[in-house]
Amino acid sequence: MRTEVIKIDEENIDIEAIKKAGQIIKEGGLVAFPTETVYGLGGDALNPGSSKKIYAAKGRPSDNPLIVHVCCMDDVAGLVKEIPESARLLADKYWPGPLTMIMNKSDRVPYETTGGLDTVAVRMPVHKTALELIKYSGGYIAAPSANISGRPSPTSAKYVIEDMDGRIEMIIDGGEVEIGLESTIVDLTGDVPMILRPGYITAQMLEETLGTVDQDKTMMSGDCKDKPKAPGMKYRHYAPKGELTIVSGQRSDVVNYINEQASRAMEKGIKVGIIGTEENIASYRGDSIKSVGSIADEAMIAHRLYGILREFDDEDVREMYSESFDTCGIGQAIMNRLLKAAGHNVVKI
Ligand code: AMP
Ligand code: MG
Repeated sequence: MRTEVIKIDEENIDIEAIKKAGQIIKEGGLVAFPTETVYGLGGDALNPGSSKKIYAAKGRPSDNPLIVHVCCMDDVAGLVKEIPESARLLADKYWPGPLTMIMNKSDRVPYETTGGLDTVAVRMPVHKTALELIKYSGGYIAAPSANISGRPSPTSAKYVIEDMDGRIEMIIDGGEVEIGLESTIVDLTGDVPMILRPGYITAQMLEETLGTVDQDKTMMSGDCKDKPKAPGMKYRHYAPKGELTIVSGQRSDVVNYINEQASRAMEKGIKVGIIGTEENIASYRGDSIKSVGSIADEAMIAHRLYGILREFDDEDVREMYSESFDTCGIGQAIMNRLLKAAGHNVVKI
């Protein structure tokens, strides 16, 4: 299949181009598009054939449900049995934005889209191109991240092209995304709302609106005894090609440990990559040293993380070391993704 790549300027959206993309989705085809979190791989959420194509294009197990993207609150009613009060409160505050809410699905939503579940994940993105595309494709776009399953989610169109060229009808290039990590997922089907995946909208922000909010305890632990509540979280997501180790401890101990490990590996001819904060970066010795931003700027760390993991893949780095980050605020989402990329391989010194 030939994949058409079109550029869209978020400040001056070419509506004709968006209509063409929307038509592809209406006809059962797939279009990758930018959102504020990461690039999505979109198909018609109400068409079971489209969801099957999404799984095939990603190489994703079909028991891993897709998030349905909407462009207005009125359209949510068509997807769910009822809109819980908690969802209305959160939508008022955080939609459009990087928050996905799980509700009980209506009969309109095919099981192919929900991975066989009776619940559906719904999000209204804030990205203008994404909202226009949803509007012109019939109102309901099922979209997981636009990467091959197991690779870091794409934060710019070049990574989407790397993974999806020849597999889908169209890629909309909207430049680099803003946030760089996937949406927060909160399940609203139980008595107490539960966070299944941390993201830019933090637990504290949700608690301000809803009171007590639980967190799926598998989110930050590598313990396989418990099953994650978001089916997708059980897979080794965000996996770089090389071995990643997270090193936590006092700043100078971390730098020394990483440098020792790096020089041991490099002596054996193994290519080493290091992820460090701006404050420490000059102290590292390795083949490929990347600054993820200042320790005080979590938003920048989130924004850069996946791109750096992809760059290490491109450079064929085989051993990687990363500093550990605080888990307050969006730090929790950063560490959740980093821990997954590292297969929970953490050295505490
Ligand atoms: P992605 O589309 O790559 O951001 O992944 C979507 C995530 O949402 C996966 O981890 C899914 O398991 C999760 N998800 C989607 N729908 C549901 C649902 N109905 N219940 C629980 N988790 C869901
Ligand atoms: Mg994904």
